[in-house]
Amino acid sequence: MGNLNLKGVKENTYDAIVIGSGISGGWAAKEFTEKGYKTLVLERGPDVKHLKDYPTTNMMPWEFEHRGQLTSDIIDANPVVSKCYAFREDAMHFFVKDNDHPYVQDKPFDWIRGYQVGGKSLLWARQTQRWSDYDFEGPARDGFAVDWPIRYKDIAPWYSYVEKFAGISGNKDGIATLPDGEFLPPMELNCVEQYFKEKVASRYNDRHIIIGRAAHITTPQQIHLDQGRAQCQNRNLCQRGCPFGGYFSSNSSTIPWALKTGNMTLQPNSVVESIIYDEKSNKATGVRVIDTVNKKATEYFASVIFVNAAALNTNLILLNSTSSRFPNGLGNDNGLLGKYVAFHNYRGRVNAEYDGFKDKNSEGRRPNSGYIPRFRNVLKQETGFLRGYAAGFGAWRSNQPANGWGNELKSALLNPEPGPWQVNSHIMGETIPKEANRVSLDSSKKDEWGIPLMHIDMAYDNNDEDMLKDYFEQVSEMFADAGFTNIKTQDSKQAPGLDIHEMGGVRMGRDPKTSLLNEWNQLHQCKNVYVTDGACMTSTSTQNPSLTYMALTARAVDHAVRTMKKEG
Ligand SMILES: Cc1cc2nc3c(=O)[nH]c(=O)nc-3n(C[C@H](O)[C@H](O)[C@H](O)COP(=O)(O)OP(=O)(O)OC[C@H]3O[C@@H](n4cnc5c(N)ncnc54)[C@H](O)[C@@H]3O)c2cc1C
Ligand code: SF4
Repeated sequence: MGNLNLKGVKENTYDAIVIGSGISGGWAAKEFTEKGYKTLVLERGPDVKHLKDYPTTNMMPWEFEHRGQLTSDIIDANPVVSKCYAFREDAMHFFVKDNDHPYVQDKPFDWIRGYQVGGKSLLWARQTQRWSDYDFEGPARDGFAVDWPIRYKDIAPWYSYVEKFAGISGNKDGIATLPDGEFLPPMELNCVEQYFKEKVASRYNDRHIIIGRAAHITTPQQIHLDQGRAQCQNRNLCQRGCPFGGYFSSNSSTIPWALKTGNMTLQPNSVVESIIYDEKSNKATGVRVIDTVNKKATEYFASVIFVNAAALNTNLILLNSTSSRFPNGLGNDNGLLGKYVAFHNYRGRVNAEYDGFKDKNSEGRRPNSGYIPRFRNVLKQETGFLRGYAAGFGAWRSNQPANGWGNELKSALLNPEPGPWQVNSHIMGETIPKEANRVSLDSSKKDEWGIPLMHIDMAYDNNDEDMLKDYFEQVSEMFADAGFTNIKTQDSKQAPGLDIHEMGGVRMGRDPKTSLLNEWNQLHQCKNVYVTDGACMTSTSTQNPSLTYMALTARAVDHAVRTMKKEG
């Protein structure tokens, strides 16, 4: 495609271009604009303005046509996205529907996407744990993937930096595998969760039950009030968009902050087709963009480009950025672009009941849950599988169903009988990046904007199966030890993807022969292109990844700005 915008080169030139306005792109926008750089943020989806564009945020359950549920028509039309727990009547407008943006599943892969300003930051479950050196040293120690070019000390100050602005609630638990952060006051474990914590602590010195660290403002600080955000009200309706800005989203936090500087141009409905590379300078000069509404193509230019389209779409953009110098995709001299993608194994659950605490009940809402940090294969290899798993944990009590007719039913409804305590855990397993797990472009099928469709070819392996078995055994044993009964394990057998933590394909590393990005997230072969979303991840850890994307992004912008200043 030629430059269809010859006249407008000057007016289409910025200091920085950021592709994508989700969790990582929002941070890139904030950092560049705050430092005085004119920044163009290109977002393929429509605008979603904080407060104004949250149509369901204050609706009562009875105001929804289907009381919050999905109709069978919607499920039939969306066999993939309807599997996501958050795809419900109140939030489905923020999810990509299956037929709108097709892709090719070489093996089953449930690709969950949010195409709008804010991306999936509107939809996420806000769990925000730091990684530790047990994660960054994992590939080198256990001999898989390639060594991370950074360690915890390189990113620790940036975790602090983003945590203070975003607002992360948590408890300082002092656990080596899960470094403490700059926490707002923690939410609380309930009585059964606290009981389980004590039971586990009395038997194991390396297993911990803690309250999740979550991006909720439990006590606003001045920096949050300055963003126009307020204390979380525990409504637990976050996926609708929060009218209080109680949780961190790009829409409530980084994007309006960047707009306030006057340095950001936010351009929704603009899908980046590819990055333009100039052989003479060995630099990227800009991007080719298609307007999703009128399909007009335009080129935009900048000194530095941040690719933050979310892991798989970032792979797609780079694979589609071909030139005579890079016929297989930008920076792809080693042929590894799109390979070694990985994800989290969320297949397993353990459910049980507890007969104690009959005088206590759970009431109200808590947009968070308990968390069991990784305890397997931490200090030494103790199982037949590599790496380990973290787990979610929660307990609650619900009422027995109200039965009967007439007065009997009325009385049962007015005097509900609490049932036994329910306890539940789910696995968050680290999967090993493998060359065979990859994404690529279809050679002929294109989307309605002329961009090749993505092929996704990812699967579990024996390591994942063995890990799942161990999780069932260990958590069942811990539950039994605590006196929980009716313990049931459940393998959902869900396809990869539903974890929504896909990572890799443009991995960081020390050696350009085996990695695509250096320690600052620059493409080894085209240094003014930075990738700081999940695509950059060399391995996946057991922690939720988005806090790490935020910290890497802020760190990379700092590096880009220092480099631009040096180069004049
Ligand atoms: C239900 C749910 C629960 C989750 N829970 C957690 C959790 O508890 N903790 C956690 O860490 N993570 C969680 N996640 C994952 C988290 O949302 C993602 O890791 C995070 O949003 C990724 O940030 P990102 O910037 O890479 O991508 P996104 O936030 O998805 O943003 C990418 C943006 O790029 C845009 N884009 C894509 N392609 C193009 C293109 N070609 N041109 C222009 N724009 C483009 C998209 O429209 C989108 O707006 C959850 C996700 C979901 C859906
Ligand atoms: S739980 Fe907190 S963050 Fe979520 S919608 Fe309610 S007030 Fe907002």
